[in-house]
Amino acid sequence: MKSPKQLRKLWRQHHEAYQGCMHELAEREHCYPPPNRPPFPEELRGLTCGAKTRAGTPCKRRDLYLSGRCRLHGGLSTGPKGK
Ligand SMILES: [Zn+2]
Repeated sequence: MKSPKQLRKLWRQHHEAYQGCMHELAEREHCYPPPNRPPFPEELRGLTCGAKTRAGTPCKRRDLYLSGRCRLHGGLSTGPKGK
């Protein structure tokens, strides 16, 4: 069993691989055969955002972005970030 941190890393890796694949497809002007899309890792099924909500409970949203967080917690408005 992987820790949420490891799963999030895996999530990111998967999406980067997937996007790289889509990019390659676009560059080839969608000629066939299409590149192999990386399969969705089974262990990422059911991965939730997990960010702490204002109520103090972990966020259970599954519509996650590349960051492995949902729109509310990892989307465009995450607030100030430490650089
Ligand atoms: Zn969230």
